[in-house]
Amino acid sequence: MNHTSRTDKLRSVLQENEIDALLVTSLTNVRYLTGFSGSNGQVLVWSDGVTFFSDGRYAARATSLVQGADIEIYPTRLSDKLPPLLKRAELERIGVEGATMTLAERDDLAGRLDGATLHPTQGLVEDLRRTKDADEVALIREAVKISDDTFTWIQERLVPGALEREIELELEVRMRQTGADEVSFQPIVGSGPLSAHIHHTASDRAFEKGDMVLLDFGSRVGGYCSDMTRTVVLGPATEQQEEIYDLVLRSHLAGIEAVAPGASGKEVDAAARSIIEDAGHGERFAHGLGHGIGIDIHEAPRFSKTSDDSLRVGDVVTVEPGVYLPDWGGIRIEDCVLVTEGGYEVLGNSPKDHLISV
Ligand code: ZN
Ligand code: ZN
Repeated sequence: MNHTSRTDKLRSVLQENEIDALLVTSLTNVRYLTGFSGSNGQVLVWSDGVTFFSDGRYAARATSLVQGADIEIYPTRLSDKLPPLLKRAELERIGVEGATMTLAERDDLAGRLDGATLHPTQGLVEDLRRTKDADEVALIREAVKISDDTFTWIQERLVPGALEREIELELEVRMRQTGADEVSFQPIVGSGPLSAHIHHTASDRAFEKGDMVLLDFGSRVGGYCSDMTRTVVLGPATEQQEEIYDLVLRSHLAGIEAVAPGASGKEVDAAARSIIEDAGHGERFAHGLGHGIGIDIHEAPRFSKTSDDSLRVGDVVTVEPGVYLPDWGGIRIEDCVLVTEGGYEVLGNSPKDHLISV
């Protein structure tokens, strides 16, 4: 990972925002800029330097993980070490991350600054993170492959009598046994009518013959996430199950087809959503079409009815329409997609061209 080129890019962003330095407090952004992962770390980036801060618990870990930055370990809190550094480097206008710095942290820091002032910023590093380099795409591909292979493996375990919670655990164990650092989020396993719950937590419900089972899961490799959804049916599908699956599939493919550099988040969303609306199920698709994915499972850009995000080469996004009918069940299909010069490349390889009957 080329952390130095990331901090270099951030420096030109500082100039555009008329700040002397940016104090990065989002742990995801800290990881992106320095390679550090842990529960406490901050980074200051300015024209002549990059300094990583943490507490004594992370001294050894910081030495082994942090790249392209000096390391300062503070006794109790950031405000012990930051003000003298700002003074030495003559930094006055300090950008802070409005989405992650707490009011208590800001007050503590502001009370100890000698001349410097804090200025809230939004999404500066998040915007850089959108454009994945070759190393990042390679890690996402690995994470996608692990979830694809896990989907193949889990199918014979989807039988009447299996519990949602057992399948959730098996998904996690299998992904970790086959190379994932961890799951990228707690897997969603929804069966029968519970598949209609968009963010269902796996329960003790036992699968029954004829159930649809919705599996939404992903792995994390080298810090980078995958995310996929497939919906299968236990035994022969009914006509309505086939019909709704086909509708969601057409919507999913239309969404993917709309992915291209320059396309807006709402255009891509509309390309997929209009197909479900035309079939009279618009109100049963009650979420955005997809999201960017990287170190965070959900990051910029967004696909929704109102998103003005404009796609760029190097964005990795999900396309995941669904139709959820109360008391009947839900069907969602999701894959990760890379935005390329020519349009897109679908990273997921699991079959989806028809409703799989297990
Ligand atoms: Zn998902
Ligand atoms: Zn997703």
